[in-house]
Parts: sequence; structure tokens; C-alpha cells
Amino acid sequence: MQAAKRIANVRFTACRLPPECNERRVTDMQTILMDMTKGVDEAQMAQAGEIIRTGGLVAFPTETVYGLGGNALDPDASRKIYAAKGRPSDNPLIVHIADFEAIRKIVTDVPEQAEKLAKAFWPGPLTMILNKSSAVPLATTGGLNTVAIRMPDNPVALALIRAGGGYIAAPSANTSGRPSPTKASHVMDDLSGKIDCVIDGGPVGIGVESTIVDLTEEEPVILRPGYINQHMLEAVLGTVHMDKGLIINDPGVHPKAPGMKYRHYAPKASLTIVRGDAARVETKINELVAADRAKGLRVGIIATRESRADYHQGIIRVVGTRAEEITISQHLFAILREFDDIGVDRIYSEAFDSEELGTAIMNRLVKAAGHQIIEV
Ligand code: AMP
Ligand code: MG
Repeated sequence: MQAAKRIANVRFTACRLPPECNERRVTDMQTILMDMTKGVDEAQMAQAGEIIRTGGLVAFPTETVYGLGGNALDPDASRKIYAAKGRPSDNPLIVHIADFEAIRKIVTDVPEQAEKLAKAFWPGPLTMILNKSSAVPLATTGGLNTVAIRMPDNPVALALIRAGGGYIAAPSANTSGRPSPTKASHVMDDLSGKIDCVIDGGPVGIGVESTIVDLTEEEPVILRPGYINQHMLEAVLGTVHMDKGLIINDPGVHPKAPGMKYRHYAPKASLTIVRGDAARVETKINELVAADRAKGLRVGIIATRESRADYHQGIIRVVGTRAEEITISQHLFAILREFDDIGVDRIYSEAFDSEELGTAIMNRLVKAAGHQIIEV
């Protein structure tokens, strides 16, 4: 702690406070913002690594969303992550590594499937679930005997993992329940004053969280869809299943990834998805917006470059272009946050179904909408 105090000039006084003062500890902190938008700054990275190694929290960019990092092998650091986010303690964290060999310390065995997937997709937006070794505290895995592991494809993230000792537990760096952060400013909005440091690495490239694949069952199962889709995984592994809890909208069927059961990504306004033929979707959204506005409501629309000109009223935001799906995943969470800031009452969105990135985008959007979908 002394070292972190010296280098970070952060008030860690609370470490000496009794447990009932925990609340003060997480809100009294002065959060350092490091600019690495032009690349890794060695001196600042050494500071950030020291904060991690001495038990502090550093938010950092990855290619998916910003992560809130702490030493994955230190149960107290994991507890601080849960506290800063207000995250339920049964929702496990993903452990980030920077070298494949590092995996051996944190799992009981490395199945061949894991080696194949790492070769094909690491560093990259894929998280694997494996059986954990005793090196990983239960505080990091939400009490589970399995551990989620990923090697992110971002030079700042990889440098931080190495500087921080090799194992960084990091969920998305948002307040629990809010849309995941895709820019450093989103992280500051949610966590400034609650964590030691935020590294700004510019806007992220993908914008939705990593694909999670469980390798602890007989056959691999996707627990969360992401940029690496089912076809890409099957090309490497053969048959890969989709977790039933993801496809069946039945309160009796629970997703296997504990985090997938929570109402995530929720904007403050009520969000409705309108799905179907493009022309009919535009007509329906225009009708709904007109009716809401007649009642004096403020309404937001999530449109695409292709449909923008067909909407006439309301606060219209272009999320991206259907010609390049990644532009949609990149901007979706930022637009939900922007509508929160503007203070709209209702949001209408088009649907973005496709076999590629569409599964991941719709998984987030449907959750944000609390399953409110109008088929036209
Ligand atoms: P986040 O990093 O905030 O996107 O959340 C991590 C996600 O990974 C959550 O949905 C967790 O439930 C899931 N996860 C992490 N560890 C495990 C595990 N051992 N088994 C199943 N799901 C996990
Ligand atoms: Mg999250």
C-alpha cells in the first residue's frame, strides 16, 4: 500500500479505517486519468502496474469494452471490484492474461480444445471457462470452481497485465446494470472517485463483450455470444452448442453464466425493439414516435445510416451501417448512455439480426429492452 500511495498520490487512508468505513474508502478516492491514446507510456504504465500489484484498481481499454482490473490472485482486490461496481458477488470475474503459458498456474489442466482456441483466437475477444486451480481465490470466481480466462487484443491491456503481475481480474468497467463502457469518459462517469486509476486508450474497436465458451462440459457451450461467433468456433472445434438459457425465453431456464441472468445494459428510458421488414419497421417506429410525442414524451430512435432519412421526428441517432456490422456494435452502448444523458422517456430501436455479429448485438439489445419487442 505504501508504494501505491507514493506513486499514485491517492488517498489510501481508508486502508487503516475500520470495516464500517468501507463506503468512505470507495468514494473518497481521487482517480488518476492516464492518457495512452497514442500508445503505451512506459513510466505511467509502471505506476499503473504498481497500483495493481499493491491491491488497487485500474480501468483499462481492451478491444471489446473497458475493463475494471485488479490482481486476480488477491481476494481483497476482487472484493474491491465488486464494491466499486455494485456488482452481485455471485457474478464471477474474467481473469486476463498476457501469455498463454500463464494459464497453467490458474487451471487444473489445459484441454486440447483450449490450446486450439488460443492458437486461433488469442489475443482476441474470446473467454474460455476451465476448471480453476487453488491459485485463484473463490472471491474472483464468485464461489465457482471454474475460472473464466481471456487474453485481450490491445497493447495497453497486455502491457498492464504484464506490469501488474500477470493475472488481472476484470469485469466491464461500468456501474453494475449500466451499459458497458466503450470510452474512458464512460468509465469516469461511473467510477470516478471509486477507483485508483483509469487508462484512456481511446474508443474500443468491437464494443460488445467477449464471447464466452465453456470447456468444462463434454461438448463446448457458448455462454455469451460475442464477436467470435458459433461458426468461427465450430471451424476449430467441431460441434459447439449455444447455452439453452440464451435462446429460450423461459424464466425456468437459467443461463449458465451467472452474469447473463441480470438485467444488464439497461438505459433509464423504456426501450422497445421493432423487428421485421425494413419499410414496415420504419413506418411503425414513426407511428409510435408520433403517438408518444403527442403525449408530450421525449423519444429517441436508434437508426442506421440506411434508414436515417426515413425518420422525421424525435431524437434520431445513427448507430452504424448495416453494410459493416461492427460499426453497430461499436456505438450501441454509447448511444444508450447518450439517451440517458439527454433524459429521453422512450427509445425505439431497429433490430440487428444476422448470423455474424447480429447474435451478440441482439443479445445485448434485447436485454436492454427487457425483452420488449414488437414484430411487424
Ligand atoms: P463482464 O466481464 O462484466 O462482462 O462479466 C463476465 C461474465 O463472465 C459474466 O456474465 C459472468 O457470469 C461470466 N463468467 C465469469 N466466470 C464464469 C464462470 N466460471 N462460469 C460461467 N460464467 C462465468
Ligand atoms: Mg459487464
